Amino acid sequence: MARIHVLGAGTPTPTPTRFGSSFALELPNGEQLMVDCGPAATHKLVKVGLWPTNIDYMFFTHHHFDHDVDYPCFLLCRWDQSIGKENKLKVFGPPPTEKFTNEIIGSQGAFAHDWKARIGAPGSQRVFVNRGGVLPRTPPEVLAKDIGPGKVYSGKDWEVTAAPAVHVQPFLDSLAYRFDTADGSIVFTGDTEPCDSVRDLAKDADVMLCMCWDEQTIMNKNGEHEGQCGTDGAAIMAMNAGVKKLILVHIGPHLSDPNVKSISARSLSQIYDGEIVFADELMSINI
Ligand SMILES: [Zn+2]
Repeated sequence: MARIHVLGAGTPTPTPTRFGSSFALELPNGEQLMVDCGPAATHKLVKVGLWPTNIDYMFFTHHHFDHDVDYPCFLLCRWDQSIGKENKLKVFGPPPTEKFTNEIIGSQGAFAHDWKARIGAPGSQRVFVNRGGVLPRTPPEVLAKDIGPGKVYSGKDWEVTAAPAVHVQPFLDSLAYRFDTADGSIVFTGDTEPCDSVRDLAKDADVMLCMCWDEQTIMNKNGEHEGQCGTDGAAIMAMNAGVKKLILVHIGPHLSDPNVKSISARSLSQIYDGEIVFADELMSINI
């Protein structure tokens, strides 16, 4: 069975219950991947019962910090916990995914002092050997690739396709992803305003995780409706795409207020008649 774990259901604005964006997806064949790696994603991954060395793929929607700031932590932790028998991590995302990865974990990267010390220090070697590793320890190796729209990757019984999302171009490219698995199709919109490319990508999907910053009339009034979805935008995209379930993610602080949420839930269901879920962090959903 495919299973989605919501690691980060929030935005760049921290709240007591949500901060940043990140998701883990367990595929029917047992493979595990992540979409985005926002604040504390590595720790939240462990909180839902998963483990960094079992994540073999990372997909970035874009490179705002609320979607990637925990990437250094994830890379270092995954490498540190590995004993050399794991699969190489494959990472996909719009530019600067390759450059960013190299600048973090490469031999001249910002954290090279860390892994070089762990490779060389006898005490660190002992911990590695006690964990099951065989010396010598090898440097981190990550297969990172800059990608654009189109077919991204095909696994054994799953494949992933990307489409342009409309967010903060031309400053940063943004992508939405669709995962077609043996158990159904899951779409992650990433950060986007309602647009035809994401709607088409999500056509008839079983689940769409759509960003939802705030209640729509407020966004339309304060000018925050460009480059991102509000309640109406998310509902309209879900309805037009014909998705079976809409999971609202990237929920801002105002929409987190229970009163605003209940008003919004009513207006959402007037537009979209499928199942609607306001995602909470550490929530797990079966497909
Ligand atoms: Zn964001």
